[in-house]
Formats: sequence, C-alpha cells, structure tokens
Amino acid sequence: MSDNLLEIRSLSKALPAGPRQSAAMVLRDISLDIARGEFVAIVGPSGSGKSTLLYCMAGLEPPTEGTVTLLGQDLSGLGRKSAARLRRDHVGFIFQSYNLIPSLSAWENVALPAPLAHRSAGQSQIDAALAAVGLTEQAQQKPSTLSGGQQQRAAIARVLAMRPDVVFADEPTGALDAEAGAQVLDLLRTAATDDSSVVMVTHDLQAAARADRVLVLRDGAIHRELHHPSADEVFEAVTTPATRAV
Ligand code: ADP
Ligand code: MG
Repeated sequence: MSDNLLEIRSLSKALPAGPRQSAAMVLRDISLDIARGEFVAIVGPSGSGKSTLLYCMAGLEPPTEGTVTLLGQDLSGLGRKSAARLRRDHVGFIFQSYNLIPSLSAWENVALPAPLAHRSAGQSQIDAALAAVGLTEQAQQKPSTLSGGQQQRAAIARVLAMRPDVVFADEPTGALDAEAGAQVLDLLRTAATDDSSVVMVTHDLQAAARADRVLVLRDGAIHRELHHPSADEVFEAVTTPATRAV
C-alpha cells in the first residue's frame, strides 16, 4: 500500500440527462492524492462541484469515469457491502446541517456509531470525545437546546470518537457565526494528526488558509493547488481567470 490515504485518478462525474436538460459534466478528469496527516481544503464558486467531489472521495457517490482508492482499496472494485464497511470503519463525514438525531442527547448521539460498527465504546471514551469538543456540561441536552456551534461540535465528537482515518466535512462552518466557526475549525485542524487526514469544503477563504493544501475548483476541474497559502493567496487563486492575458 502506498503512503497515500486516498488516491483519485482521472475522475469524471456526469449527471444523467433529464427531461429538460442534457447530460452535464460536474467533475472533469480530476487526479489527486491525500496523504496521511494532511488537512486539505477545497474551495471554488457555488456549483463548481465541491460537494460532488467530496462525496466521490468518501465513496458516497460513484464516479462516472476514473478510480477512487481509499486505504489501498479501489472502491469500484468493492461490493456495496464491503464499501459500506470500509466507510464505516475508516471514514467520518461532517455536514453543514450537523445531522444529529433530535430525540437523542448529545451523549447518546456520540455513543451511537460504535455499536453499529460492532465496536465497543466505553462510557469514558464518549465522555472524552465530548470533553475534547468542550461539551461536557451539555452532554445530556437534546440537539434542539444546543446552539448551532454546539451542535456542530457534537457532530464532530461523534465522528472523532470513531477514530476515522479520514474526515470529510462539507461546509462545516457554513451555518455558524464567526466565533463558533473558529472553534469548529480549530477542532478540524487538530483532527488532522500524523495518522488521520481532514478534507474540508468551504466558502470561507480564511478557513481554507488554515489548511496544509488548498484545491481551487472551477467548472468541475482543479484550477489551482496551493500549499500553506495565506487567505490573500487563496482569494487571488479563486478570483484569477483561468487564462490570463499577458
Ligand atoms: P458545489 O458544492 O461546488 O456548490 P455541487 O457539487 O453541489 O457544487 O454541484 C455541482 C453541479 O452539479 C451544480 O451545477 C449542481 O447543480 C449539479 N448537481 C449536483 N448534484 C446534482 C443532482 N443530484 N442533480 C442535478 N444536478 C446536480
Ligand atoms: Mg456544495
């Protein structure tokens, strides 16, 4: 197995033609690697394919062409069950809308995935996951009584308690105010360790500038790739036309 956690080769994604539209290419010929420990941000205009790319990377959507290799396993070569198991055991996903279960407390939400994965999570492990995101006091509260930032932190605790190899996050700070967003970003930054990687889609160029690497997507293709950029450099890359007159 190579050192890369994730390898994407010549990935394209077409949307099927509908009654009133022809087939459209959402992603075009994307190749990229995610190394262990990397924190990668994906930015680009709305509709540029960021979410679709993230879903393909996570094995939630199949590519039309090309391959996605996660932990040395070609996802297209796996049956539905094996792919689901690989995701369950190694992948975490964080959504803009938190996706907590409303009838369960924060603690119960965090405790939920382990038994589904046939793993035992001791009470202390759940407590530790909630403490790590600063929600010890709120452990017994239902999501509806938590602020947006607290709900997102609970969703992050739920993912991190499973110790995934890679965390995917789609606009995780999109519904949060600046302070709550900064807390969530700190948690994601910390979640990228020697062993685990984080791939985050964001609109927030300041947030993207916290990443080790920033991929700028445009019209379904990788327009630019930046290493440890400043927010200004991300802004420039997002706003620079694809072909510039010299
Ligand atoms: P982003 O996350 O960058 O805003 P998306 O990946 O959500 O972009 O979408 C990329 C393009 O694909 C958009 O033009 C969007 O309208 C289209 N698209 C995505 N998913 C679907 C779908 N299930 N049905 C129809 N169009 C879709
Ligand atoms: Mg999106």
